[in-house]
Amino acid sequence: METKEFAFTRLIKCGICGSGITAEEKYKKLADGTVNRHVYYICTKSRNIDCKNRYINEKGLIDELIRLVDEVHLDELGIKEKVSHEFKRYNHFRTSVLNETKEEKEAEDVDIRNYAKYILRKGSVIEKRELLAHLRSQLIVEDKKLRLE
Ligand SMILES: [Zn+2]
Repeated sequence: METKEFAFTRLIKCGICGSGITAEEKYKKLADGTVNRHVYYICTKSRNIDCKNRYINEKGLIDELIRLVDEVHLDELGIKEKVSHEFKRYNHFRTSVLNETKEEKEAEDVDIRNYAKYILRKGSVIEKRELLAHLRSQLIVEDKKLRLE
């Protein structure tokens, strides 16, 4: 269990007591024999053993992150450079591999937000971590809601 890679543990703090957040993994066997994996994020309670912060599951956390991506100022996301880079690669692919002649213009705000949301939904653990590492503020979770400090 300790070797499992969780995308969000070290990037988020408890909004009630300021402790770190840890991930717990649960497996639920369904009637048809398949197994569902659930990941819950919860306060480590290292600063307050009685902390009453509630857990948030991974899906809820990703929904909250996507909401934040829409709300925060883009400078806050800190991923403009990264997205511009990806956008240039995409343009290069289109013109050199697909033989399309027209270059797309620069990545716009909407592209940057969509890119961030795409990574949160479909990216690997490493890509998600990398994306969130660009955030300029600390992520705080309190009662299933996420906010920036
Ligand atoms: Zn706490």
